[in-house]
Amino acid sequence: MQFIETRGNDGQHPEKVSFSEAILSPISSFGGIYSPESLPDLGETFLKTHINSDYKTLARAVLTAFEIDIDADIIDSALALYDNFDDPTNPVPVVKVKDDLFVSELWHGPTRAFKDMALQPFGTVLSSIAQNRNEHYLILAATSGDTGPAALETFKNKANVQVACMYPDGGTSDVQRLQMVTEDAKNLKVIGVKGDFDDTQNALKHLLASKAFKDTLKEKNILLSAANSVNFGRIIFQTIYHIHSYLELVRQNAIQSGDKVYLNVPSGNFGNALGGYYAMKMGLPVEKILIASNNNNILTKLINTGAYDLRSASVIPTTSPAMDILKSSNIERIFFDLFGKERTKELMSQLDDEKYYQLNENELKQIQAIFSADFCDDDQGKEYIKQAFSTGYLMDPHTATCFKAYDTCREKPLKTIVYSTAEWTKFSPVIANALTGEVDAHDLDALKSIAKEANIKIPAIISGLFDKEITQKSIIEKDEIESEILSFL
Ligand SMILES: *Cc1c(COP(=O)(O)O)cnc(C)c1O
Repeated sequence: MQFIETRGNDGQHPEKVSFSEAILSPISSFGGIYSPESLPDLGETFLKTHINSDYKTLARAVLTAFEIDIDADIIDSALALYDNFDDPTNPVPVVKVKDDLFVSELWHGPTRAFKDMALQPFGTVLSSIAQNRNEHYLILAATSGDTGPAALETFKNKANVQVACMYPDGGTSDVQRLQMVTEDAKNLKVIGVKGDFDDTQNALKHLLASKAFKDTLKEKNILLSAANSVNFGRIIFQTIYHIHSYLELVRQNAIQSGDKVYLNVPSGNFGNALGGYYAMKMGLPVEKILIASNNNNILTKLINTGAYDLRSASVIPTTSPAMDILKSSNIERIFFDLFGKERTKELMSQLDDEKYYQLNENELKQIQAIFSADFCDDDQGKEYIKQAFSTGYLMDPHTATCFKAYDTCREKPLKTIVYSTAEWTKFSPVIANALTGEVDAHDLDALKSIAKEANIKIPAIISGLFDKEITQKSIIEKDEIESEILSFL
């Protein structure tokens, strides 16, 4: 399968690339991104065939259907990483919580958040491509908290790859920060930046676009890439768990194969939701995809009104920080798929120039045929956490936003798959506050009180972080990032 450009071609970039090329250089002409030229058909026969497949078998079949240019043995070693999840036979458990609501838990990997679902196999794939091509890569990552640990975890000690990961100093939870600053592999550099997530993201974009920076790297025989969520090498692994979760509902006799379901996704950069969209396009019986946001409700407004308006918007810090976002990058692939490259280019350049665009009536109708959206503020989220806990389910504040969309967005009484994107351990102060009322607890105290309240153990992988040596000590100003990275190399 080939990948084509969402904003058309500028005569400089290749019009079509292979999967491995799209992984190494995801950015295409006019600041667009590479998207699949077509999608495989994974309709009823595929679902029937895989009704009893384990996760890796299903994953292999989906990847095969995409006809990607990655050798089977590399794919096998990438998928083997799911064996390190809590239950190797089922890395993504789907739990019935109430009535029609099932939670697909995407956080049973090494960093306890859903970024592992894609980044774990992605690291192996990227490192293998680099080795085959005898090239060395610097991977840049900017993180608001979950991408960083997952990227470091997947690339540590991998051949032909070095990682520089930037996080906003003070902008992540203790656990997220410790997961990063205790990484000691020689090919990893972690940089705390004095600023917020947008500052680190802008620094990343600036470096990725800087010819001078690339030239300096070239002298060191290093190429530049990014592990951000527009990378199709991540998206492809995010189509699989939607299909898996559907099949789990069939296996649990909650639905019959062919019945429609709602997918309910806590959304930020829209990678998770895009995976669901592609699964639906490939034939998964989905009624609608419910997009849950927090107070940064730019996606709710887009889906309900067709307007994307950043003119007076600024990021509002919430208790679900992985969704504190203004520019949701993967929406572009939905537009490209529905409206084509000319219109996508028009909308995206308008957003760049005027910080605003408005879909027309027909476009909005097409969007609303697929998506519904609502947002959940922090107090409501806390209530949902409390409520779910009282019925025996412990969840994090990102997952909680979906419970509101479950209440408000469904038009039919169909089974609903909520995607849970983080373990309780990653956002413990918020959860402790919801459950016990305690305020401003540090992570370790909050973890302890939740563990007591819920009568569960803090996973060793998390409690151990607090005793580990801090090896990554850089905390710097925005304008020092480039030189810090160069001295690491
Ligand atoms: C990244 C993340 C999200 C948002 O996912 P997108 O694919 O960017 O929409 C939601 N919740 C958690 C915990 C995350 O880490």
